[in-house]
Amino acid sequence: MQELIIKNLQVSIEDTQIIKGLNLTLRQGEVHAIMGPNGTGKSTLAYTIMGHPKYDVTGGDILLNGKSVLEMAPDERSRAGLFLAFQYPVSIPGVTVANFIRTAINSQRRHAAPPQEDISVLDFRKMLKSKMDLLEMDYTFGGRYLNEGFSGGEKKRTEVLQLAALEPAFAILDETDSGLDIDAIRIVSEGVNALKGPNMGALVITHYQRILNYIKPDFVHIMFDGRIVESGGEELALKLEDEGYDWVREKYVQPQSV
Ligand code: ADP
Ligand code: MG
Repeated sequence: MQELIIKNLQVSIEDTQIIKGLNLTLRQGEVHAIMGPNGTGKSTLAYTIMGHPKYDVTGGDILLNGKSVLEMAPDERSRAGLFLAFQYPVSIPGVTVANFIRTAINSQRRHAAPPQEDISVLDFRKMLKSKMDLLEMDYTFGGRYLNEGFSGGEKKRTEVLQLAALEPAFAILDETDSGLDIDAIRIVSEGVNALKGPNMGALVITHYQRILNYIKPDFVHIMFDGRIVESGGEELALKLEDEGYDWVREKYVQPQSV
């Protein structure tokens, strides 16, 4: 079984410490939710796991199956089985959704041990259509430029389409629910639910509890001021839904940040 272990992680952006000693163990087959107020470092954690160069790891480690990923470039991390669905997906004019996904799949295959041949055009089309069916997406999306002119919901669905096509060992979903109406949340969640299983672990980052009505987490963590301050089950998410984040702030605010 594969494991992603985050050990005493400390991360800075431009000399400001954002993540302040964060520990988390994610195993294949498990769904973990991270909830926290805005500005608490959730996206920073997601980007750092994927290796965005803006984030400086100043302490701790991120281990994938016992091996540190900190020296690996983002594309290497992706080929090693990590995937991030962005909170704010960027558009790439000139690159179609289908070509983008096919390029990513072929890159994985070429770097596999032993290397595999590129996926055939026919197999790729079949696979992409079946994943689009899963996400109730119109097939014309395959021919559109990535995220160019997409609505918020279409962008998020396209992120989950990439996830479905790449079948990573660990998927991080950064506020995939933000900006989605309830139907889109349901469809995206059903897509994720169809993928989760013994071969995929998921880290679902969210501000609101509602996506967790659809994607049932095994563990819920509350992140505050760069740390995980509480861990438990679904009852934690429900408590946040009922009471908001004020009690978290009162309990965990550091004197120097008041
Ligand atoms: P969350 O996803 O939980 O809302 P983020 O990880 O996006 O939080 O941000 C955490 C903190 O890092 C915030 O205080 C934010 O202002 C700060 N931050 C994010 N990006 C930058 C940046 N490019 N430069 C400086 N500070 C940043
Ligand atoms: Mg964020």
